[in-house]
Amino acid sequence: MSRVRDLPAVLQLDVSGNPQQWITYESSAYHYAKDNIAWAMGAIDFDIHGGTCAKTGEQSVLSINTIIAIKGHLSPKAMKHYNRVPLTNTTLFRRDQNVCAYCGDIFSKGGLTRDHVHPVSKGGLNTWTNVVTCCAPCNKRKDNHLLESINMDLIYVPYVPNRAEWLILQNRKLLADQMEFLMKRVPKVSRLHEYLDDYGPGT
Ligand SMILES: [Zn+2]
Repeated sequence: MSRVRDLPAVLQLDVSGNPQQWITYESSAYHYAKDNIAWAMGAIDFDIHGGTCAKTGEQSVLSINTIIAIKGHLSPKAMKHYNRVPLTNTTLFRRDQNVCAYCGDIFSKGGLTRDHVHPVSKGGLNTWTNVVTCCAPCNKRKDNHLLESINMDLIYVPYVPNRAEWLILQNRKLLADQMEFLMKRVPKVSRLHEYLDDYGPGT
């Protein structure tokens, strides 16, 4: 069997099925051991072999699903936490599929920057709806200008991913059943739908 650290992440849900976060198989094993699992799904189970019982000489085995729902109700603070979609360059570039919002070319992560459509120096915010993926030359050209003043246009509209999309953007190794579960919860406006239609999951 694979070593635990090589295994893909487990998708953690709340008891109502809202996606919360990626956790390791070790953390999942903890939830199983503590009887914290409300229900589980996912096509693939992994068996984790534990210690050997001194009395019986039998080794304990724990079967772990790829999607697990945790028992209990969330406090308002925890609910707020699990609704967050923190903005990072990694998730931003993946939202925009590494396409520069101005010239439309595709770049590797190293050739990309975060551009504030309405410049921060002019009161623009560092929020999902005001940032786009931008190549270095376009960023230099745009500088801290407003688009209308330098005749530049966006070729796509920035948007806020929901938690399900954000979880997809975070994890490059997600399994087919996890992808299927999350994609059903990604809003229709997301570019992830057309991207997956073109390239399929796992690209
Ligand atoms: Zn560009």
